[in-house]
Amino acid sequence: ALEAVNIRHGFGILSVLHGVSLQVRPGEVVAVTGPSGSGKSTLLHLLGGLDVPQGGEVWWAGERADTLDTQRRATRRAGRVGLVFQHHYLLEDLNVLDNVMIPCRLAGQDDPARAHALLARVGLGGRERTMPGVLSGGERQRVAVARALASRPAVVLADEPTGSLDRANAVNVAGLLLNLAREDGAGVLLVTHDERLAAYADRTLHLLDGRFTDELPVYG
Ligand code: ATP
Ligand code: MG
Repeated sequence: ALEAVNIRHGFGILSVLHGVSLQVRPGEVVAVTGPSGSGKSTLLHLLGGLDVPQGGEVWWAGERADTLDTQRRATRRAGRVGLVFQHHYLLEDLNVLDNVMIPCRLAGQDDPARAHALLARVGLGGRERTMPGVLSGGERQRVAVARALASRPAVVLADEPTGSLDRANAVNVAGLLLNLAREDGAGVLLVTHDERLAAYADRTLHLLDGRFTDELPVYG
C-alpha cells in the first residue's frame, strides 16, 4: 500500500536519512522507533508527501508520489494516506466536523455520515460544532484520529500520536487509532517512544544513524 525505496534526505550539511526503504501493507501495523533526532518525523513527512526526498522514491498504492506536483500530491494524499502528527494540527478556524472533513473534501469525497460516525467512535459525538480551541489535548488528538481515517486511506502515518498526553489518554488515543484502522483494513505506520505501543505492532523498525537497523523482536 505504501512503499519507500532508498530514501535519502538532509537539511543543509546535515544528512539525516541515508537510504531508508520500507513497505506498509494493508492491515499491517509497523512501529518505527529511534533516538530523538534520528529522523523519524522527517521520514514520516517524506512518506506523507509533505516534503520531497532528496533521493529515493515514495509510492502510494502503486503510484509514484514524490514526483507529483504539490497540488496533485495533496489531493492524492487526501484519499490515500491519513496523517496524525506529533503536535496536533487542527485548523483553528474550522469546527470539529469541518476539520474531520478536510481530507474528504480534498479527495473529492463528501461523506458527512462517515465523519459523524468516526467522531462518535472517538467519543466526540455531539461535539461537531465545537471549535478546536476549547478542546482538551486528548480531545484534539481524537479529532486528528477521526480526520486521519475520514477518507478511508489505505495507510495511516502517525507520529507520536500520544506524545503530549497522559498515560490513560495515550492508551485511549492509540487504541482508537489501531482499532479504527483495523476495521477499515488500513495499514498503520506508528512512530513511538513507547514500548507498550510498539507492542501492538506486527513489526518494529529501528532508525539509527540514518538507516533501519535489523528488525527488533516484537515485544511481549
Ligand atoms: P524526536 O524523537 O525528537 O521527535 P525525530 O527522530 O523525529 O526526533 P526529526 O525531527 O526527524 O527527528 O529530526 C532529525 C534531524 O533533522 C534533527 O537533527 C533535526 O534537528 C533536523 N531537522 C529536522 N527538520 C529540519 C529542518 N526543517 N531544518 C533543519 N533541520 C531539521
Ligand atoms: Mg519527531
